[in-house]
Order: sequence, then structure tokens, then C-alpha cells
Amino acid sequence: MFHFDRGLKLTKADLAVDFKRRMPRGFISHAHNDHMARHQYALCTPATARLYQHRLGMRDVLELPYRMPTEWGGMRLTTFPAGHCLGSAMLLAEDGDQSLLYTGDFKLTESLTSERAELPKADILVIESTYGQPTYCFAPRAELVGQLIEAVRKALERGQTPVVEAYALGKAQEVTKLLTTHGISVLQTKPVFEISQVYEACGMTLGNYVLFEGLPREGHALVAPPGAHRGSNLQGIRRPCRIAVTGWSLDRNSHRRYGFDHAIPLSDHADFNELLEAVERVDAREVHCTHGPESFVDELRNRGVNAYRLGVPASQRERLLF
Ligand SMILES: [Zn+2]
Repeated sequence: MFHFDRGLKLTKADLAVDFKRRMPRGFISHAHNDHMARHQYALCTPATARLYQHRLGMRDVLELPYRMPTEWGGMRLTTFPAGHCLGSAMLLAEDGDQSLLYTGDFKLTESLTSERAELPKADILVIESTYGQPTYCFAPRAELVGQLIEAVRKALERGQTPVVEAYALGKAQEVTKLLTTHGISVLQTKPVFEISQVYEACGMTLGNYVLFEGLPREGHALVAPPGAHRGSNLQGIRRPCRIAVTGWSLDRNSHRRYGFDHAIPLSDHADFNELLEAVERVDAREVHCTHGPESFVDELRNRGVNAYRLGVPASQRERLLF
């Protein structure tokens, strides 16, 4: 059904799944740079197609709208929402004998700016298990959103400019919508703003936000990609209050280490409990784990799941902070 060739390949369709290197035929689960390349021919959801073409230029794409099975390469391919960012998809591939569900990056909790994840049952599950350790159990999302809003409001009251650092595709748009729905206007740096325009073109409205042109505006929070404070274009912000929004905030003292005033673990990835829930819901006879720690495979085996590790162990990967 599948094999591993420095990435997951669906054997019958010769379809590369989320490869970072150019392939003749590549499925793209979502438009984060670590999941795509300039493929000769790409398969993805309509929203991912727009984001992919925004980032990598106009390219040939076969669009796979959610829940609409497509016969392709001798297989039946169906995408389902992954809840990670706009357009993010899980892929259900069926070859007539067996079915395989590939999750890509996903989360089960709801988001204001992506469709809620759906998990069909499958014979084989390939699951992205980034936060596959019990230390990564996030507080209820409403509580974390409350922490974000409070940190931003207090900074504004003190006359500071809240600078929320969130990756440019997905998290930045969700943070923007969370702030604007709470009555806080938003400035966005150019990379974030341009992606927000694609979101709007896909029908995802984000509220009252404008392009940041170098100077703070009263009552506005600034949303910028991680590391933006090191560049020259935030020099006009005299009194920043730096807020990180990432699941890695649960790592002890991470915010002090990176110079943040606040770090809020509002994540676009499933936490440990959501990963276990996903495995249970898909109810596959074999489960292959990617990205996460080896201990998650052991955890599943201890629970009676026929689990394996797929690809390079997490310890050998460069760990993404955001
Ligand atoms: Zn991602």
C-alpha cells in the first residue's frame, strides 16, 4: 500500500506525500514550507492550492475538495479537514483492498480560521505525533485564548505595543481573528498580511487588520512572524511587549530563554491526549508514527496498539520552535 523513500509514498499511485523535495506527483497536506516543494504536479485542497501558489508561484494542481472522492492513479483519494490551518487536509487513500489515512499536521480542537478536523476510519493510520509526550497536554483552548487577550489588553493599558509572534501562515491569522473578535485592532507585518489576503480571498474574514508600516498605532496589537524583532522593520516599536504563541511554551522557562514577556501554548498541533484520541477514533489495525518522539510508539504499544515508527526519529530532527 505504501513504502518509505525519505518520505511516505503511496505505492500504487506513485504519489509522494508531503515531500520537501520536488517530485513528479506530490500530495500537499497544507501549505507550510516543511510539507511542500515545487512539484511537477501537486494534489491538494482548493485553499491549500491558493496558499501553495502564493508561496511558490503558479503551478499545476489537481484540487481535491474535502469529502469528494477522486479516482486517481488507480486509487481513490479523499481529503478531510485536519484543523491545522486553512485548507489543511488528511488524506484517505483506498486501493480496493485496504485504506490508509495520513493525518499530516492536525489538531482536534476547534479554531476560528480552519475547518474542524474529521477522522474517518482506516485500516492503516499514518499519524503526525509531534507532541507525543504526556508533558504536552494543553489547557482548554478557551482558557489559553483568555490568557492571550488579557496579556494584550494589559500591555495596551500600560502604553506598550503588544507584539504577538506567531508563524505567518495559520497561527497569525487565527491570532488576528481572536484579537479582532475581542475588539482589538491588529497591525500585520507584510508576510503575515499577504497570507491574510489569501485567507480573505478564500472567504475567511479576519476582522479589522491593516498592514504595519513601521509605526505603532494606538490601541493596536502587532502580529508578526517568529524572530521579527531581530529585523529592522520593528525599530519603530519603542515599548514592545513580546508574546509567543506556540505549543513549545510548555517547555520550562522557554519564554525567558527567548526573551518573551509571555508565552502561551495555543497550538495548531494535537496534544498528547488528542493524539491518543485520534488513534482510538481511526481504529486502524496498524499505526505508523511520524515526527514525534519514539516514546509515543511505546506508549501506543503499551495500550495494545500495533504501532511503528516511520522515518527519522524526532531527536535527529531540527526541532521547530513555532
Ligand atoms: Zn504545519
